[in-house]
Amino acid sequence: MLSPIQEYLEHLHARYAPLMDGTVADYIPELSKANPHWFGICIATRDGHVYEVGDTRQPFTIQSISKALAYGLALEDRGEEHVLKRIGVEPSGEAFNAISLKEGTGAPFNPMINAGAIATCGQVLHKDTQSRFERLQSYLSGIAGRDLDIDEVVYRSESETGHRNRAIGWLLRNFGILDEDPHETLETYFRQCSIRVTCRDLALMGATLANQGVQPLTRQRAVSAQYVDNILGVMATCGMYDWSGEWIYRVGLPAKSGVGGGILAVLPGQLGIGVFSPPLDAQGNSLRGIKVCMDLARELSLHMMNPTATPRTSVRLSYQGGEVMARRRLPSSARETLKTHGTQIQILELQGGLIFTTLEPVIRHAIRLSNAGCRHLIFDLRAVVTANTVSLHLLADLQKRLGTSGVEVVICQPGSLTSRLMEAGVPSSSIFSTLDAALESCEDALLVSVTGAAWRPAKALDLRECSVFQSCTNGELQILEKDLEKRTFSPGEFLIHTGESSDEMFVLTEGNVEVQITEEGGLKRRVDVLTAGMTAGEMAFLDNSPRSADVMALDKVTCLVVTRPWFTSLADTLPHLKIKLLMSLIREVSSRLRQANVEITALQRS
Ligand code: GLN
Repeated sequence: MLSPIQEYLEHLHARYAPLMDGTVADYIPELSKANPHWFGICIATRDGHVYEVGDTRQPFTIQSISKALAYGLALEDRGEEHVLKRIGVEPSGEAFNAISLKEGTGAPFNPMINAGAIATCGQVLHKDTQSRFERLQSYLSGIAGRDLDIDEVVYRSESETGHRNRAIGWLLRNFGILDEDPHETLETYFRQCSIRVTCRDLALMGATLANQGVQPLTRQRAVSAQYVDNILGVMATCGMYDWSGEWIYRVGLPAKSGVGGGILAVLPGQLGIGVFSPPLDAQGNSLRGIKVCMDLARELSLHMMNPTATPRTSVRLSYQGGEVMARRRLPSSARETLKTHGTQIQILELQGGLIFTTLEPVIRHAIRLSNAGCRHLIFDLRAVVTANTVSLHLLADLQKRLGTSGVEVVICQPGSLTSRLMEAGVPSSSIFSTLDAALESCEDALLVSVTGAAWRPAKALDLRECSVFQSCTNGELQILEKDLEKRTFSPGEFLIHTGESSDEMFVLTEGNVEVQITEEGGLKRRVDVLTAGMTAGEMAFLDNSPRSADVMALDKVTCLVVTRPWFTSLADTLPHLKIKLLMSLIREVSSRLRQANVEITALQRS
């Protein structure tokens, strides 16, 4: 099926393919051989999906587009301070090949005009037996995600005719901006400009910059994250030479053009665009390229200062304790306590990307909740796809601040954020991998703070304390004690297996068991934890259906076993007792159903 995005790009291509204005660069004689009909448009998303139309695989020389990327390598090699001292970041308002150096220092205005680019090239180091050019070539290859080669013919053509650039090189030497014989630097610069790319490469290079320097296809870091903003910054202000102001006004994307006919544009954080068409306008920018980018920006709303791009708040769901509880069966008194004091536990489920602007309303929400009596706040980050470092630090700070006013913040997330949360200052004791574990810890803390004691029985229970036997008389309890078999299980042993017939029901007097359901793919998921005093396996026992879950002992478990023949015969021997037991079981089951309804409602709220 043709994607509507592909179809859109094909229309856009057809719109400008007949436009034959502009002239192919000929001051580098070899460039004049380019076919003026060549025309390609390509968009690459930050996750590496590529849309392309036209001549997107036609190789051509990268020319000035290399300047933006080489600037990244110079920054990585020498650091910001060193580079800024030699090359400014102010738009010059002049042509790409202007001999414009700042009065006094001789520093080029910016790294995007030839003077600045030649100076930048001089800052790249020879390293690890690699020449300056080899390092530039492999740096650019890393950004493109494939090995790029050089067009030797174009290189020789420029080297033979590049007298103006040579003059600039010697001026830079005169001002001490270049501190060695400029000959080698100039040849390296000419070679750098002759690196061969395709329109598709340009889009993917843009996607690498959009992806904070990680190449989306190879997943390798190609540009240090620290300098991506700086590269995009100079592209935005100086990338289109003396048309840069108008470009940012109309298109609104950091971009760089080259006299080979290429334009590389970036929507930061989102995508890269490559356009290729050799005929140039008076400023030396691809004429069709400019038109295509203007239409793309307007028709797809890509201008980076367009406010509709502001991310939305990321609270997906907000609910409180007592509405949704950890998957375990609490004694009814504990359940009641959690319901009465439910507002003390609040759960905020976040989604999407966490950055300053998406987290800010969440912080306000959290503070509001803590002013309204919340004592345990759970951030459920399982639906968060990305989180920048600032947002994690803000979360850690919020946790500390709320902690000092008596609100405990715990975080539930699937594991991918653990180490980064800890680096930001969140203690590992408040990071949980499942919502269940997070809820359990908050519920336990709340129950202790309200009732003053842990709710789990510390020792084996009397029969009277078990919920099914609650309304039995002493005489009946004695009969039960005598009639029912006592069985023990060690940790990890199963009381019940899925699929078995259900001829028994277990009344736990000591220890805890876990009810597990096996999901597709064999993964076991905890659906319930039962503790001493509760009944296991009563559902299938009552409706006489096969077991629907596994039940495993978590520690040493002791229980009384109610068998079907005994329970059936009770109708004749002790019908009153049978009715009592059935009534208690019905009460248990219906109160669980009621709780499930509350939970479903809370989770469906939008
Ligand atoms: N190699 C070309 C030059 O220095 C690059 C110019 C450009 O692409 N604007 O003249």
